[in-house]
Amino acid sequence: MSAGPDELSEVPELRDLALSRAEVDRATARRSDTEWLAAAWADPGTRVVVVEDGRALVRSGPGTKELVFVSPAEAPEGVRFLLGVASDETVYFGVAGPLPEAGSQAGLPPGVRPVSLREAGPLLSDRDVGLMTHAVGLANWHAVHTHCPRCGAVTVPEQAGHSRRCPVDGSEHFPRLDPAVIMLVTDPDDRCLLARNAQWPERRVSILAGFVEPGESAEQAVAREVLEETGISPLCRQPALADAAQPDARLPRPRHRQPPDRRRLRRDRRGPLVQPG
Ligand SMILES: [Zn+2]
Repeated sequence: MSAGPDELSEVPELRDLALSRAEVDRATARRSDTEWLAAAWADPGTRVVVVEDGRALVRSGPGTKELVFVSPAEAPEGVRFLLGVASDETVYFGVAGPLPEAGSQAGLPPGVRPVSLREAGPLLSDRDVGLMTHAVGLANWHAVHTHCPRCGAVTVPEQAGHSRRCPVDGSEHFPRLDPAVIMLVTDPDDRCLLARNAQWPERRVSILAGFVEPGESAEQAVAREVLEETGISPLCRQPALADAAQPDARLPRPRHRQPPDRRRLRRDRRGPLVQPG
């Protein structure tokens, strides 16, 4: 479910990338300490966030959202992972398990429902968005990396859910990370280029982004993705993982793609917000 206009209007101005905020120490040294992990799981004060299909239970209030935690005893069966330890010594775990069925969600407390990171991320606190991003990333990886790529055996979680090991050949497997670029393409008229994925709700647009291919630099990925997605060849500057680029109208446009849904947005909000590109 996507955020409605009222919820979007509640999104505060972001000081940092919405999903790059975090507050809880990941406690990497504890991941192999089975005694400590067992004691932490036995502590009713330990907090658990349950994730299913990229969603977690979130309580919505006026202009805010907060994660809904359960105790270890209340958590469902599923792959368990240590998320970290807060400065007040509270231990946080994630569990990839079932959330309340859609038919029983009416029994949830008022304002509580399963939501995705895209919807809740900008409104969650630094602590909560860091925990949810960590938990969703691990849950997604466990869901699709259940077997050994070498021999096909079912692998088992290790390191408090931060890796998996094959019991047949002993190979160890870690969460896959996909480097990506996101870039702001502007023109001399101080407009920025926006695009819309055909699967998105009406009126949702975004600056451009894409994955870096093997052996490709971030700058090369920016140029390739902008050309692929919009037919515009950018002149890149300020090379970084967050890039800025300007279109170069002198270069030819690709022949093989359908005209994309792209728009240019003016910084000056007194004029039309969105104009056809
Ligand atoms: Zn194997």
